[in-house]
Amino acid sequence: MSFTSTTFADKDTAAWLALDSAHYLHPFTDHAAMRAGKARVAVRGEGVYVWDSDGHRVIDGLSGLGCVNIGYGRSELAQAAAAQMQELSYCQSFFSTTHRSVILLAEQLAAMLPEGLNQVFFQSSGSEANETALRLVRKYWDLLGKPERRIVIARERAYHGSTAMAASLSGLTFMHHAGGDVPLPNIVHIKTPYRYRNGAGMADGDFGIVAARWLEDKILELGPGNVAAFFAEPAQSAGGAICPPMSYWPEVQRICRKYDVLLVADEVVCGFGRTGAWFGADYYGIVPDVMLLGKGMTSGYLPLSACVMSDRLADVLVARGGEWAHGFTYSGHPACCAVALENIRILREEKIVEYAGRALVPYFRTKIESFADHPLVGDARCVGLMGGLEIVKDKATREAYPREANIGQRCSTEALNRGLAFRANGDTMTLMPPLVITEAELDTVFEIARAALDATARHLGVME
Ligand code: PMP
Repeated sequence: MSFTSTTFADKDTAAWLALDSAHYLHPFTDHAAMRAGKARVAVRGEGVYVWDSDGHRVIDGLSGLGCVNIGYGRSELAQAAAAQMQELSYCQSFFSTTHRSVILLAEQLAAMLPEGLNQVFFQSSGSEANETALRLVRKYWDLLGKPERRIVIARERAYHGSTAMAASLSGLTFMHHAGGDVPLPNIVHIKTPYRYRNGAGMADGDFGIVAARWLEDKILELGPGNVAAFFAEPAQSAGGAICPPMSYWPEVQRICRKYDVLLVADEVVCGFGRTGAWFGADYYGIVPDVMLLGKGMTSGYLPLSACVMSDRLADVLVARGGEWAHGFTYSGHPACCAVALENIRILREEKIVEYAGRALVPYFRTKIESFADHPLVGDARCVGLMGGLEIVKDKATREAYPREANIGQRCSTEALNRGLAFRANGDTMTLMPPLVITEAELDTVFEIARAALDATARHLGVME
Protein backbone atom coordinates (compact mmCIF):
# COMPACT_ATOMS: atom_id res chain seq x y z
CA MET A 1 0.00 0.00 0.00
CA SER A 2 1.13 3.54 -0.67
CA PHE A 3 -0.37 7.03 -0.44
CA THR A 4 -0.22 9.81 -3.02
CA SER A 5 0.98 13.32 -2.37
CA THR A 6 -0.60 15.05 -5.38
CA THR A 7 -2.07 18.43 -4.48
CA PHE A 8 -4.20 21.02 -6.28
CA ALA A 9 -1.13 23.10 -7.01
CA ASP A 10 1.31 20.91 -8.83
CA LYS A 11 -0.29 19.92 -12.17
CA ASP A 12 -1.23 21.49 -15.49
CA THR A 13 -4.35 20.57 -17.48
CA ALA A 14 -2.73 17.78 -19.47
CA ALA A 15 -1.39 16.20 -16.30
CA TRP A 16 -4.79 16.42 -14.61
CA LEU A 17 -6.45 14.75 -17.59
CA ALA A 18 -3.84 12.01 -17.70
CA LEU A 19 -4.50 11.31 -14.05
CA ASP A 20 -8.25 11.43 -14.65
CA SER A 21 -7.90 8.85 -17.43
CA ALA A 22 -5.78 6.64 -15.20
CA HIS A 23 -8.32 6.31 -12.40
CA TYR A 24 -11.66 8.06 -12.76
CA LEU A 25 -14.75 6.52 -14.38
CA HIS A 26 -17.38 9.15 -15.19
CA PRO A 27 -21.19 8.83 -15.24
CA PHE A 28 -22.89 8.38 -18.64
CA THR A 29 -19.56 8.58 -20.47
CA ASP A 30 -17.92 6.77 -23.35
CA HIS A 31 -14.52 6.55 -21.72
CA ALA A 32 -12.62 5.52 -24.81
CA ALA A 33 -13.95 8.62 -26.59
CA MET A 34 -13.38 10.91 -23.63
CA ARG A 35 -9.83 9.73 -23.11
CA ALA A 36 -9.03 10.08 -26.80
CA GLY A 37 -10.59 13.53 -27.06
CA LYS A 38 -10.48 16.87 -25.34
CA ALA A 39 -11.85 17.36 -21.84
CA ARG A 40 -11.93 20.24 -19.42
CA VAL A 41 -10.96 20.48 -15.80
CA ALA A 42 -13.38 22.78 -13.96
CA VAL A 43 -11.71 24.69 -11.17
CA ARG A 44 -14.03 27.45 -9.97
CA GLY A 45 -17.61 28.66 -10.20
CA GLU A 46 -19.26 31.98 -9.45
CA GLY A 47 -22.75 33.15 -10.32
CA VAL A 48 -23.58 31.64 -13.71
CA TYR A 49 -19.94 31.06 -14.71
CA VAL A 50 -17.48 28.19 -14.37
CA TRP A 51 -13.76 28.55 -15.08
CA ASP A 52 -11.49 25.75 -16.26
CA SER A 53 -7.84 25.06 -15.55
CA ASP A 54 -6.78 26.90 -18.71
CA GLY A 55 -8.56 30.04 -17.55
CA HIS A 56 -11.49 29.73 -19.98
CA ARG A 57 -14.82 30.98 -18.69
CA VAL A 58 -17.97 29.04 -19.55
CA ILE A 59 -21.47 30.41 -19.02
CA ASP A 60 -23.48 27.56 -17.54
CA GLY A 61 -26.65 27.29 -19.59
CA LEU A 62 -27.50 24.08 -17.73
CA SER A 63 -27.20 24.93 -14.03
CA GLY A 64 -24.76 22.02 -13.81
CA LEU A 65 -27.32 19.30 -14.38
CA GLY A 66 -30.41 21.37 -13.70
CA CYS A 67 -29.43 21.77 -10.06
CA VAL A 68 -27.44 24.97 -9.44
CA ASN A 69 -30.60 27.09 -9.32
CA ILE A 70 -29.11 29.73 -7.07
CA GLY A 71 -25.82 30.02 -8.98
CA TYR A 72 -22.29 29.07 -7.93
CA GLY A 73 -20.21 30.31 -5.03
CA ARG A 74 -22.75 31.46 -2.44
CA SER A 75 -20.72 31.64 0.73
CA GLU A 76 -23.84 31.42 2.92
CA LEU A 77 -24.30 27.82 1.83
CA ALA A 78 -20.67 26.96 2.55
CA GLN A 79 -21.02 28.56 5.97
CA ALA A 80 -24.24 26.66 6.71
CA ALA A 81 -22.48 23.38 5.89
CA ALA A 82 -19.39 24.29 7.91
CA ALA A 83 -21.40 25.36 10.97
CA GLN A 84 -23.46 22.16 10.89
CA MET A 85 -20.39 19.99 10.39
CA GLN A 86 -18.70 21.58 13.36
CA GLU A 87 -21.69 21.20 15.60
CA LEU A 88 -22.97 17.76 14.55
CA SER A 89 -21.22 16.35 11.50
CA TYR A 90 -23.30 13.20 11.23
CA CYS A 91 -26.40 11.73 12.75
CA GLN A 92 -28.06 8.44 11.95
CA SER A 93 -31.85 8.50 11.94
CA PHE A 94 -32.38 4.76 12.25
CA PHE A 95 -32.64 4.08 15.97
CA SER A 96 -35.02 6.53 17.59
CA THR A 97 -32.66 9.45 17.05
CA THR A 98 -33.30 12.64 15.16
CA HIS A 99 -31.67 16.05 14.85
CA ARG A 100 -32.73 19.64 14.48
CA SER A 101 -31.81 20.43 10.86
CA VAL A 102 -33.73 17.49 9.46
CA ILE A 103 -36.79 18.35 11.54
CA LEU A 104 -36.69 21.98 10.39
CA LEU A 105 -36.31 20.98 6.75
CA ALA A 106 -39.18 18.48 6.89
CA GLU A 107 -41.37 21.16 8.48
CA GLN A 108 -40.30 23.67 5.83
CA LEU A 109 -41.09 21.31 2.94
CA ALA A 110 -44.48 20.39 4.37
CA ALA A 111 -45.29 24.10 4.64
CA MET A 112 -44.17 24.84 1.07
CA LEU A 113 -45.79 21.92 -0.72
CA PRO A 114 -49.45 21.58 -1.63
CA GLU A 115 -52.00 20.83 1.08
CA GLY A 116 -51.85 17.31 2.48
CA LEU A 117 -48.22 16.57 1.55
CA ASN A 118 -46.88 16.53 5.07
CA GLN A 119 -44.47 13.65 5.63
CA VAL A 120 -40.95 13.52 4.24
CA PHE A 121 -38.47 10.69 3.68
CA PHE A 122 -34.92 11.76 2.83
CA GLN A 123 -32.21 10.19 0.73
CA SER A 124 -29.22 11.55 -1.21
CA SER A 125 -30.12 11.37 -4.91
CA GLY A 126 -33.06 11.69 -7.24
CA SER A 127 -32.66 8.04 -8.21
CA GLU A 128 -33.01 6.99 -4.60
CA ALA A 129 -36.08 9.20 -4.17
CA ASN A 130 -37.67 7.28 -7.04
CA GLU A 131 -36.65 3.98 -5.42
CA THR A 132 -38.28 5.09 -2.18
CA ALA A 133 -41.47 6.15 -3.97
CA LEU A 134 -41.73 2.90 -5.89
CA ARG A 135 -41.30 0.80 -2.77
CA LEU A 136 -43.71 3.11 -0.95
CA VAL A 137 -46.59 2.83 -3.39
CA ARG A 138 -46.38 -0.96 -3.52
CA LYS A 139 -46.07 -1.17 0.27
CA TYR A 140 -49.11 1.06 0.60
CA TRP A 141 -51.28 -1.22 -1.51
CA ASP A 142 -49.93 -4.28 0.31
CA LEU A 143 -50.89 -2.74 3.64
CA LEU A 144 -54.38 -2.04 2.33
CA GLY A 145 -54.75 -5.70 1.35
CA LYS A 146 -54.52 -5.00 -2.37
CA PRO A 147 -51.20 -6.61 -3.33
CA GLU A 148 -52.46 -7.07 -6.89
CA ARG A 149 -51.99 -3.30 -7.39
CA ARG A 150 -48.42 -3.81 -8.53
CA ILE A 151 -47.96 -2.25 -11.95
CA VAL A 152 -46.43 1.17 -12.26
CA ILE A 153 -47.03 3.27 -15.35
CA ALA A 154 -44.31 5.67 -16.48
CA ARG A 155 -43.67 7.41 -19.80
CA GLU A 156 -41.47 7.14 -22.82
CA ARG A 157 -38.42 9.40 -22.71
CA ALA A 158 -38.83 9.77 -18.93
CA TYR A 159 -35.73 10.09 -16.78
CA HIS A 160 -36.10 8.97 -13.18
CA GLY A 161 -32.52 7.98 -12.41
CA SER A 162 -29.93 5.30 -12.82
CA THR A 163 -30.36 2.69 -10.09
CA ALA A 164 -32.02 -0.53 -11.26
CA MET A 165 -35.52 0.54 -10.26
CA ALA A 166 -35.14 4.15 -11.39
CA ALA A 167 -33.60 3.10 -14.70
CA SER A 168 -36.54 0.73 -15.20
CA LEU A 169 -38.94 3.62 -14.61
CA SER A 170 -37.00 5.68 -17.11
CA GLY A 171 -38.26 5.54 -20.65
CA LEU A 172 -34.97 6.33 -22.36
CA THR A 173 -34.49 2.80 -23.59
CA PHE A 174 -30.76 3.05 -24.26
CA MET A 175 -30.38 3.12 -20.48
CA HIS A 176 -31.87 -0.35 -20.26
CA HIS A 177 -28.78 -1.77 -21.91
CA ALA A 178 -26.42 -0.55 -19.20
CA GLY A 179 -26.47 -3.85 -17.31
CA GLY A 180 -28.40 -4.96 -14.25
CA ASP A 181 -31.16 -6.86 -16.06
CA VAL A 182 -33.39 -3.84 -16.35
CA PRO A 183 -36.17 -3.03 -16.92
CA LEU A 184 -37.52 -4.77 -13.85
CA PRO A 185 -40.98 -6.33 -14.22
CA ASN A 186 -44.32 -4.61 -13.66
CA ILE A 187 -43.28 -1.24 -15.05
CA VAL A 188 -44.86 -0.14 -18.32
CA HIS A 189 -44.45 2.98 -20.43
CA ILE A 190 -46.95 5.10 -22.30
CA LYS A 191 -46.54 7.83 -24.87
CA THR A 192 -45.67 11.25 -23.59
CA PRO A 193 -47.13 14.74 -24.27
CA TYR A 194 -44.42 15.42 -26.84
CA ARG A 195 -46.41 17.59 -29.15
CA TYR A 196 -43.85 17.83 -31.92
CA ARG A 197 -43.65 14.04 -32.37
CA ASN A 198 -46.90 12.73 -30.87
CA GLY A 199 -49.43 15.48 -31.53
CA ALA A 200 -48.67 17.02 -34.89
CA GLY A 201 -51.44 19.23 -36.19
CA MET A 202 -53.45 19.21 -32.97
CA ALA A 203 -54.43 22.32 -31.02
CA ASP A 204 -52.51 22.58 -27.78
CA GLY A 205 -55.47 22.18 -25.44
CA ASP A 206 -56.87 19.20 -27.36
CA PHE A 207 -53.50 17.49 -27.46
CA GLY A 208 -53.15 17.71 -23.68
CA ILE A 209 -56.42 15.82 -23.25
CA VAL A 210 -55.53 13.23 -25.91
CA ALA A 211 -52.13 12.64 -24.26
CA ALA A 212 -53.68 12.27 -20.81
CA ARG A 213 -56.12 9.69 -22.20
CA TRP A 214 -53.14 7.49 -23.16
CA LEU A 215 -52.86 6.99 -19.42
CA GLU A 216 -56.53 6.10 -19.11
CA ASP A 217 -56.27 3.67 -22.03
CA LYS A 218 -53.32 1.92 -20.37
CA ILE A 219 -55.06 1.75 -16.97
CA LEU A 220 -58.11 0.16 -18.61
CA GLU A 221 -55.97 -2.25 -20.61
CA LEU A 222 -54.11 -3.41 -17.49
CA GLY A 223 -57.20 -3.37 -15.28
CA PRO A 224 -57.43 -0.51 -12.77
CA GLY A 225 -57.19 -2.95 -9.86
CA ASN A 226 -53.70 -3.94 -11.01
CA VAL A 227 -52.19 -0.47 -11.21
CA ALA A 228 -50.29 0.98 -8.25
CA ALA A 229 -49.19 4.39 -9.51
CA PHE A 230 -48.32 6.73 -12.35
CA PHE A 231 -44.82 8.25 -12.19
CA ALA A 232 -44.05 11.33 -14.26
CA GLU A 233 -41.99 14.50 -14.38
CA PRO A 234 -44.17 17.63 -14.62
CA ALA A 235 -42.00 18.64 -17.61
CA GLN A 236 -39.36 16.22 -18.91
CA SER A 237 -35.85 17.61 -19.00
CA ALA A 238 -33.55 14.73 -19.98
CA GLY A 239 -36.17 13.51 -22.45
CA GLY A 240 -35.51 16.72 -24.39
CA ALA A 241 -37.43 19.56 -22.71
CA ILE A 242 -40.85 18.05 -23.24
CA CYS A 243 -43.35 20.59 -21.96
CA PRO A 244 -46.96 19.40 -21.76
CA PRO A 245 -49.89 21.65 -22.65
CA MET A 246 -51.65 23.17 -19.62
CA SER A 247 -54.64 20.87 -20.18
CA TYR A 248 -52.55 17.71 -19.66
CA TRP A 249 -51.90 17.57 -15.94
CA PRO A 250 -55.40 18.35 -14.57
CA GLU A 251 -56.76 15.61 -16.84
CA VAL A 252 -54.05 13.17 -15.68
CA GLN A 253 -54.98 13.97 -12.08
CA ARG A 254 -58.67 13.42 -12.81
CA ILE A 255 -57.90 10.04 -14.37
CA CYS A 256 -55.66 8.95 -11.49
CA ARG A 257 -58.36 9.87 -8.98
CA LYS A 258 -61.07 8.14 -10.99
CA TYR A 259 -59.19 4.81 -10.93
CA ASP A 260 -57.51 5.31 -7.56
CA VAL A 261 -54.07 5.23 -9.15
CA LEU A 262 -51.48 7.09 -7.06
CA LEU A 263 -49.91 10.08 -8.77
CA VAL A 264 -46.16 10.46 -8.21
CA ALA A 265 -44.68 13.71 -9.49
CA ASP A 266 -40.93 13.51 -10.03
CA GLU A 267 -40.01 17.14 -9.34
CA VAL A 268 -36.28 16.45 -9.09
CA VAL A 269 -35.70 19.00 -11.87
CA CYS A 270 -38.94 21.02 -11.85
CA GLY A 271 -38.92 21.64 -8.09
CA PHE A 272 -37.47 24.83 -6.62
CA GLY A 273 -38.25 27.20 -9.43
CA ARG A 274 -37.42 25.63 -12.77
CA THR A 275 -40.91 26.25 -14.20
CA GLY A 276 -40.99 29.81 -12.86
CA ALA A 277 -43.26 28.60 -10.04
CA TRP A 278 -41.84 26.98 -6.90
CA PHE A 279 -42.94 23.50 -8.00
CA GLY A 280 -44.19 21.95 -11.21
CA ALA A 281 -47.34 20.93 -9.30
CA ASP A 282 -48.04 24.62 -8.59
CA TYR A 283 -47.37 25.57 -12.19
CA TYR A 284 -49.68 22.94 -13.64
CA GLY A 285 -52.25 23.17 -10.83
CA ILE A 286 -52.21 19.65 -9.42
CA VAL A 287 -51.83 17.98 -6.02
CA PRO A 288 -49.93 14.70 -6.41
CA ASP A 289 -49.98 11.92 -3.81
CA VAL A 290 -46.18 11.86 -3.74
CA MET A 291 -43.65 14.51 -4.77
CA LEU A 292 -39.97 13.76 -5.33
CA LEU A 293 -37.46 16.55 -4.80
CA GLY A 294 -33.71 16.72 -5.30
CA LYS A 295 -31.21 18.86 -7.17
CA GLY A 296 -32.53 22.43 -6.62
CA MET A 297 -33.36 21.71 -2.97
CA THR A 298 -29.70 22.39 -2.14
CA SER A 299 -28.92 24.10 -5.47
CA GLY A 300 -26.54 21.18 -5.97
CA TYR A 301 -24.19 22.30 -3.17
CA LEU A 302 -24.65 18.95 -1.39
CA PRO A 303 -26.54 15.80 -2.39
CA LEU A 304 -30.03 15.55 -0.93
CA SER A 305 -33.39 14.29 -2.13
CA ALA A 306 -36.82 13.94 -0.60
CA CYS A 307 -39.84 11.73 -1.13
CA VAL A 308 -42.75 13.71 0.25
CA MET A 309 -45.98 11.79 0.71
CA SER A 310 -49.54 12.77 1.40
CA ASP A 311 -51.19 12.05 4.72
CA ARG A 312 -53.20 9.38 2.93
CA LEU A 313 -50.07 7.28 2.39
CA ALA A 314 -48.18 8.28 5.51
CA ASP A 315 -51.10 7.48 7.80
CA VAL A 316 -51.31 3.93 6.47
CA LEU A 317 -47.55 3.45 6.58
CA VAL A 318 -47.29 4.72 10.14
CA ALA A 319 -50.40 3.06 11.57
CA ARG A 320 -50.12 -0.32 9.89
CA GLY A 321 -46.62 -0.63 8.46
CA GLY A 322 -44.53 -1.52 11.48
CA GLU A 323 -40.84 -1.11 10.67
CA TRP A 324 -40.38 0.05 7.10
CA ALA A 325 -37.08 -1.70 6.36
CA HIS A 326 -35.89 0.92 3.91
CA GLY A 327 -33.44 3.81 4.19
CA PHE A 328 -29.88 4.96 3.90
CA THR A 329 -26.88 5.85 6.01
CA TYR A 330 -27.22 9.39 4.72
CA SER A 331 -31.00 9.76 5.02
CA GLY A 332 -31.42 13.26 6.43
CA HIS A 333 -27.69 14.04 6.60
CA PRO A 334 -27.27 17.08 8.88
CA ALA A 335 -25.01 19.15 6.62
CA CYS A 336 -27.20 18.52 3.55
CA CYS A 337 -30.33 19.54 5.46
CA ALA A 338 -28.63 22.68 6.81
CA VAL A 339 -27.60 23.65 3.28
CA ALA A 340 -31.12 23.01 1.96
CA LEU A 341 -32.60 25.25 4.67
CA GLU A 342 -30.16 28.03 3.81
CA ASN A 343 -30.78 27.61 0.09
CA ILE A 344 -34.55 27.85 0.60
CA ARG A 345 -34.06 30.91 2.83
CA ILE A 346 -32.07 32.67 0.11
CA LEU A 347 -34.48 31.68 -2.66
CA ARG A 348 -37.33 33.05 -0.57
CA GLU A 349 -35.77 36.20 0.84
CA GLU A 350 -34.20 37.25 -2.44
CA LYS A 351 -37.41 36.35 -4.29
CA ILE A 352 -35.37 34.41 -6.81
CA VAL A 353 -38.20 32.17 -8.00
CA GLU A 354 -40.51 35.16 -8.39
CA TYR A 355 -37.80 37.07 -10.29
CA ALA A 356 -37.29 34.09 -12.59
CA GLY A 357 -41.01 33.60 -13.14
CA ARG A 358 -41.91 37.22 -13.71
CA ALA A 359 -38.89 38.75 -15.37
CA LEU A 360 -36.84 35.97 -16.94
CA VAL A 361 -39.37 33.46 -18.19
CA PRO A 362 -41.06 35.75 -20.76
CA TYR A 363 -37.65 36.90 -22.00
CA PHE A 364 -36.37 33.32 -22.19
CA ARG A 365 -39.49 32.26 -24.13
CA THR A 366 -39.08 35.04 -26.70
CA LYS A 367 -35.45 34.08 -27.18
CA ILE A 368 -36.21 30.36 -27.55
CA GLU A 369 -39.02 31.04 -29.99
CA SER A 370 -36.73 33.23 -32.09
CA PHE A 371 -34.96 30.02 -33.15
CA ALA A 372 -38.02 28.61 -34.88
CA ASP A 373 -36.78 29.89 -38.25
CA HIS A 374 -33.26 28.50 -37.88
CA PRO A 375 -32.65 26.02 -40.71
CA LEU A 376 -31.75 23.21 -38.29
CA VAL A 377 -34.45 23.76 -35.68
CA GLY A 378 -37.64 21.78 -36.18
CA ASP A 379 -39.16 22.71 -32.85
CA ALA A 380 -38.41 25.43 -30.30
CA ARG A 381 -40.17 24.82 -26.99
CA CYS A 382 -39.92 25.77 -23.34
CA VAL A 383 -41.56 25.90 -19.96
CA GLY A 384 -40.20 28.28 -17.37
CA LEU A 385 -36.43 28.28 -17.66
CA MET A 386 -36.26 24.87 -19.37
CA GLY A 387 -35.93 25.16 -23.12
CA GLY A 388 -35.34 22.81 -26.02
CA LEU A 389 -34.32 23.35 -29.64
CA GLU A 390 -34.86 20.16 -31.60
CA ILE A 391 -32.49 19.68 -34.52
CA VAL A 392 -33.99 17.92 -37.55
CA LYS A 393 -32.75 16.99 -40.98
CA ASP A 394 -35.95 18.01 -42.71
CA LYS A 395 -38.23 20.62 -41.20
CA ALA A 396 -41.14 19.70 -43.47
CA THR A 397 -41.18 15.97 -42.70
CA ARG A 398 -39.62 16.30 -39.20
CA GLU A 399 -37.13 13.61 -40.14
CA ALA A 400 -34.29 13.37 -37.61
CA TYR A 401 -30.60 12.86 -38.34
CA PRO A 402 -29.45 9.28 -37.70
CA ARG A 403 -28.50 8.78 -34.06
CA GLU A 404 -24.93 7.73 -35.02
CA ALA A 405 -24.39 11.11 -36.65
CA ASN A 406 -24.37 12.65 -33.15
CA ILE A 407 -25.43 16.05 -34.43
CA GLY A 408 -26.56 17.25 -31.04
CA GLN A 409 -23.20 16.34 -29.56
CA ARG A 410 -21.43 18.27 -32.29
CA CYS A 411 -23.53 21.34 -31.58
CA SER A 412 -22.83 21.00 -27.87
CA THR A 413 -19.08 20.93 -28.55
CA GLU A 414 -19.36 23.97 -30.83
CA ALA A 415 -21.07 25.80 -27.96
CA LEU A 416 -18.55 24.74 -25.35
CA ASN A 417 -15.69 25.90 -27.57
CA ARG A 418 -17.39 29.31 -27.62
CA GLY A 419 -17.93 29.36 -23.85
CA LEU A 420 -21.46 27.97 -23.31
CA ALA A 421 -22.59 24.76 -21.61
CA PHE A 422 -25.44 23.70 -23.95
CA ARG A 423 -26.58 20.11 -23.64
CA ALA A 424 -27.65 17.66 -26.30
CA ASN A 425 -30.46 15.33 -25.23
CA GLY A 426 -30.39 13.26 -28.38
CA ASP A 427 -30.70 15.97 -31.00
CA THR A 428 -32.62 18.34 -28.78
CA MET A 429 -30.37 21.09 -27.52
CA THR A 430 -31.48 22.02 -24.02
CA LEU A 431 -30.97 25.02 -21.79
CA MET A 432 -31.74 25.27 -18.07
CA PRO A 433 -29.86 28.33 -16.84
CA PRO A 434 -29.53 29.25 -13.16
CA LEU A 435 -32.55 31.22 -11.89
CA VAL A 436 -30.26 34.13 -10.99
CA ILE A 437 -29.12 34.75 -14.55
CA THR A 438 -29.62 38.30 -15.89
CA GLU A 439 -31.17 39.30 -19.20
CA ALA A 440 -27.75 40.43 -20.42
CA GLU A 441 -26.29 37.03 -19.54
CA LEU A 442 -29.20 35.34 -21.30
CA ASP A 443 -28.34 37.41 -24.38
CA THR A 444 -24.85 35.88 -24.26
CA VAL A 445 -26.29 32.38 -23.83
CA PHE A 446 -28.48 32.76 -26.90
CA GLU A 447 -25.80 34.46 -29.02
CA ILE A 448 -23.47 31.52 -28.42
CA ALA A 449 -26.29 29.01 -28.89
CA ARG A 450 -27.01 30.55 -32.30
CA ALA A 451 -23.34 30.58 -33.27
CA ALA A 452 -23.09 26.88 -32.30
CA LEU A 453 -26.18 25.98 -34.32
CA ASP A 454 -24.89 28.00 -37.28
CA ALA A 455 -21.53 26.22 -37.14
CA THR A 456 -23.33 22.87 -37.00
CA ALA A 457 -25.50 23.87 -39.96
CA ARG A 458 -22.41 24.86 -41.94
CA HIS A 459 -20.81 21.52 -41.14
CA LEU A 460 -23.93 19.79 -42.46
CA GLY A 461 -23.95 21.98 -45.56
CA VAL A 462 -27.34 23.44 -44.60
CA MET A 463 -25.95 26.96 -44.30
CA GLU A 464 -23.28 28.89 -46.12
N1 PMP B 1 -35.55 12.46 -11.75
C1 PMP B 1 -35.36 13.40 -12.66
C2 PMP B 1 -36.55 14.09 -13.25
C3 PMP B 1 -34.08 13.74 -13.08
O1 PMP B 1 -33.89 14.65 -14.04
C4 PMP B 1 -32.99 13.09 -12.47
C5 PMP B 1 -31.55 13.43 -12.83
N2 PMP B 1 -31.32 14.16 -13.92
C6 PMP B 1 -33.24 12.10 -11.53
C7 PMP B 1 -34.53 11.81 -11.17
C8 PMP B 1 -32.12 11.32 -10.90
O2 PMP B 1 -31.43 12.09 -10.00
P1 PMP B 1 -29.97 11.68 -9.54
O3 PMP B 1 -29.06 11.82 -10.70
O4 PMP B 1 -29.68 12.64 -8.42
O5 PMP B 1 -30.04 10.28 -9.05
